[in-house]
Amino acid sequence: MRYRGRDLGGEGRVHLVMESTLTARDRVGVQDFVLLENYTSEAAFIENLRRRFGENLIYTYIGSVLVSVNPNKDLEIYSKAHMERYRGVSFYEISPHIYAVSDNTYRAMRTERRDQCILISGESGAGKTEVSKKILQYYATTCPVTDHLSTLRDRLLQSNPVLEAFGNAKTLRNDNSSRFGKYMDVQFDFRGAPIGGHILNYLLEKSRVVHQNHGERNFHIFYQLLEGGEQDLLSKLGLERNAQKYQYLVKGCCPRVSSINDKNDWRTVRKALTVIGFHEDEVEDLLNIIASVLHLGNTQFGEGKNGENQITTEPQLKYLSKLLGVDGAALREALTHKKITAKGEEMISPLSFEQAVAARDALAKAVYGRTFTWLVVKINQSLAFKDDVYNSSKGSSSVIGLLDIYGFEVFQHNSFEQFCINYCNEKLQQLFIELTLKSEQEEYEAEGITWEPVKYFDNKIICDLVEGKHKGLISILDEECLRPGEPSDISFLEKLEDTLGGHAHFVTHKLSNGKTRKAVSREEFKLIHYAGEVNYSVNGELANQSGNSVLSQCFHREEVTDQKRPETVRYTHTHTHTHTHTHSLICHLSVIIHPVKSIRRFDEALVRHQVKYLGLMENLRVRRAGFAYRRHYETFLQRYKSLCPRTWPNWQGRLADGVATLVQHLGYKPEEYKLGKTKIFIRFPKTLFSTEDSLEAR
Ligand code: ADP
Ligand code: MG
Repeated sequence: MRYRGRDLGGEGRVHLVMESTLTARDRVGVQDFVLLENYTSEAAFIENLRRRFGENLIYTYIGSVLVSVNPNKDLEIYSKAHMERYRGVSFYEISPHIYAVSDNTYRAMRTERRDQCILISGESGAGKTEVSKKILQYYATTCPVTDHLSTLRDRLLQSNPVLEAFGNAKTLRNDNSSRFGKYMDVQFDFRGAPIGGHILNYLLEKSRVVHQNHGERNFHIFYQLLEGGEQDLLSKLGLERNAQKYQYLVKGCCPRVSSINDKNDWRTVRKALTVIGFHEDEVEDLLNIIASVLHLGNTQFGEGKNGENQITTEPQLKYLSKLLGVDGAALREALTHKKITAKGEEMISPLSFEQAVAARDALAKAVYGRTFTWLVVKINQSLAFKDDVYNSSKGSSSVIGLLDIYGFEVFQHNSFEQFCINYCNEKLQQLFIELTLKSEQEEYEAEGITWEPVKYFDNKIICDLVEGKHKGLISILDEECLRPGEPSDISFLEKLEDTLGGHAHFVTHKLSNGKTRKAVSREEFKLIHYAGEVNYSVNGELANQSGNSVLSQCFHREEVTDQKRPETVRYTHTHTHTHTHTHSLICHLSVIIHPVKSIRRFDEALVRHQVKYLGLMENLRVRRAGFAYRRHYETFLQRYKSLCPRTWPNWQGRLADGVATLVQHLGYKPEEYKLGKTKIFIRFPKTLFSTEDSLEAR
């Protein structure tokens, strides 16, 4: 029997199993795009997604890549019973699911004893964070645990509500949007039990603390505290139960969100903090800081008797000094004066009104940012693998990493933070391309396999534009920040124009010739990203990042020097970490599509756009034209020589000839495999290979 009469060779037979266990509903469309009759047609691709989406079948494969479409409603497919169904079952035997990816990754880690990683890609609001939570839940539920470890499991799960309270916010695209990037490692021992975890956070969107676009909110925790905090607590913190009273919470004009229950979330977070192991006094400190950020926002400046700029809100200052444990006079001085060094001498000079406001906001952002980092450090301490708790050697453990970043985003006004986020997505896309399109095709070439190359857009050109050593955007920004004297936004823009003027993906007002969709103003530059055009404002970027006097009085001196260019330097650093890290791992990919704008309707244009820029059609073409299985001649022969009398016990001639003899004996037709320079490639391996070592075969 064959699957739909298509020439799928061995794989058709594998799919036969699937037919018997799946219901008719499960089989709407094709569950692997590789099986699509008209696999080069984008319309057929989208139609398949649409039909399945209509039946709430949100998951579909392209080979081993999982494509999912955000249902925007709760589906009954994440129960414990569902999890059980996916344990130890191969991809093809059961309908596609994120649990299948989770389970395959887990088994790959165990059989290969190699670290694995699941990369999740998709734009903001597509469902990346939900997926990463589902994966974590899967491991927490299905992996073996002992009493000792159940604490760890709870902590792993409870770290999410805490991180989300402090790092997520309502945006226009997503009521619970992650405003930081996260790379989470779960460490497993030799028996496959989770024994530790580690979170790497990066790029918290600190500007949100002091400003929100219309229709957006500040980080959840502020509203949770005001809504859910007991009256005693609020009084102690000097807060009123009314978000409207706080300057930092009213910018977006939407303190309440229908899909969010701040009061309940507050309880969840409080409980989670306890489970993770925060002491009561630590929680108190944490809330003091959160409250002090609100007081900072309400700190106003005005003209004093002698025309000097001074703080006009004494109660706020009193609370700040109490909550932060700093001397009131020092704080007043810090908020209204700056220290400058001229000719080797330190001088104190007053801040103008605008400077004082900027300094206040900078302090609020820095305090919040530091607190978030501290929170992650604490969580990591509580998740850390402890040798004494569980007697297992560190050497025999492996990790599964989950990468969940913000997702590509475009706002009306895009600042340096959006630039970093989108660059990060650009790099992730680059990694996807490398893993799915580039390396695959390069290998065929290297092995001398005749191959019709599949064309795809390589976004390396955009990555280079940003990160190039001397001529990249980041290095030009770094240079401008380090230049003596007052750096200016406009000189930065001019420098960009001089250096990057000829680049196809870089546009400014001067350079634009009406070709781009959205006009570029004189204070912006436009990048044409893989996923779309974005205008970035250069306004205030340099001022915010150069020396900051308030910080110098509240933080260590050497930290302040660091603070001069915090974003670019740190960003490059963390990014490199993730990049090199993921390269040594086996990666499993998951792509998420965001099908709707506001109602739960499948918006075809929106989906088409994402299918395009995520490179899914190219992905499918490479998959279809490619070989699912490959192995070095020697390994292959060694493993299967016993299956053929002519290769058993030892093949005497050339390895390639031995392999050819063997596969012919196994019934493969010439068109089903190819012999490369060092490896055999099989288009669709028969069950024998795919089950025995499918994990290595990728
Ligand atoms: P991202 O991290 O990609 O920005 P989220 O994971 O926060 O997006 O998802 C946005 C929202 O979409 C969630 O708050 C949830 O309401 C909905 N959602 C995402 N994935 C699912 C899913 N698998 N099932 C149900 N709803 C989902
Ligand atoms: Mg997210």
